Amino acid sequence: MHNIDINVNVMTPGPEMEMVQKAREALGEGGLKSVRFPQPLESAFDEYYRDKTLKHVRVALLTGFILYAVFGLVDGLLLPADRAHMWFIRYAVVCPTVLVGLAYTYCPPLRRFMQPVVSLVMLVGSLGIVSMVYYDPTPTKNYYYSGLLLLIMGAFTFVSLRLRYAVCWAVATTLAYEAVAIYVNHTDLTILIQNSFSIIATIIIGAFSNSLMENYLRRDFLNTNLLEHENRQLQNATLELRRLSISDPLTGLGNRRHFEVMLDQEWQRAVRSESPIALIFLDIDFFKNFNDNYGHQAGDNCLKLVAQELGRFARRPGDTAARYGGEEFVLLLSGIGLADAATIAKACRNAVEALGIPHSHSPVAGVVTVSAGVAAMIPDLDADRQQLVEAADRALYRAKLKGRNTVVASKRETDQTARQVYPQAVS
Ligand code: GH3
Ligand code: MG
Ligand code: MG
Repeated sequence: MHNIDINVNVMTPGPEMEMVQKAREALGEGGLKSVRFPQPLESAFDEYYRDKTLKHVRVALLTGFILYAVFGLVDGLLLPADRAHMWFIRYAVVCPTVLVGLAYTYCPPLRRFMQPVVSLVMLVGSLGIVSMVYYDPTPTKNYYYSGLLLLIMGAFTFVSLRLRYAVCWAVATTLAYEAVAIYVNHTDLTILIQNSFSIIATIIIGAFSNSLMENYLRRDFLNTNLLEHENRQLQNATLELRRLSISDPLTGLGNRRHFEVMLDQEWQRAVRSESPIALIFLDIDFFKNFNDNYGHQAGDNCLKLVAQELGRFARRPGDTAARYGGEEFVLLLSGIGLADAATIAKACRNAVEALGIPHSHSPVAGVVTVSAGVAAMIPDLDADRQQLVEAADRALYRAKLKGRNTVVASKRETDQTARQVYPQAVS
């Protein structure tokens, strides 16, 4: 192909990375400092948080389900009978709701509502406990209070609710509990104060743990972003270096090294598929005269124009146009035999002549022209790619001898070592 097949986009630190850097500075080294990233970073973090905590949420819901169910069995064994409404709350309302919540986490398109949905599931769980306190006519109702504390701790940590959802849930749960304790159970004031204090303390500890976890995740998110960015930069720099190492800076075509690599690659392919491979060597005629008379700068411009023209003939994947050195170019054409390659070489010669670059010191034409040597073969395992290169080079030499501005295709007798050279000469 004319253009070297490496797509490089060297990234400089753009505004996005600046934003990440600033956010990292704002986050500081640790502690509880509450930080919200500027958009769109915050939305990206929301997504990151959801992905990172997805497993926790599932494990937490499953564990919650098991504990809720097992505690019910313990209730059944230890507490007085006639608790039908309690069974109903536990096994007909809360447990199925938790299972639905768990199933919900497996619906990727709906996952962006995960936080509110899990908060709702948690609310059903906590209101379930509150309603058991409500319905239990015996002193065992106080037994459920510890369940409530466990649930609060779980909501802030295990279930990975975001702080705002966890706080809303905790406030709703506490209010419901206090309402039942005050208006239904007429709880003793001392006990009520003690219980409320424990609930509030649990909420504070939970909120602290929750913020700490979120800050760690925020830092993790920023570091991952920066690392990915640095990796991309490194990859791009590597690609750019590779591109520079295989391209000719003056003409933009591949350099000789690139040609060697491509020849190697296409040669192997041709051996495997038993298909032909062709080379056209092209050399500008009397270019020294051109330089001497028009100057080196004009010579460079001429090389660029000729290169651009020749590059157009490497059209298909597997074709390569390269600057072989000085004012000599090479076209590597895969899958075509000598006759077709010779036709292309003639088209190249015509195209360069048609550029009409004045060359009044060329004995063969008033314009810049090229001579071309063509060789092709179907290589096998015993063949050597150097045979093909030498055959094309010899054909070019003969084109020069023939008077220049012409095409010569390799003949069988000049390539005795080549396994299969098409015995056709074109000029
Ligand atoms: P022939 O028809 O036999 O090919 O004659 P020629 O003059 O083209 O060949 P010769 O090898 O005698 O001269 C090649 C010239 O190409 C000499 C050199 O100054 C010039 N040349 C090689 N590389 C560059 C380049 O990068 N820029 C310029 N301007 N000239 C170059
Ligand atoms: Mg020349
Ligand atoms: Mg030359």
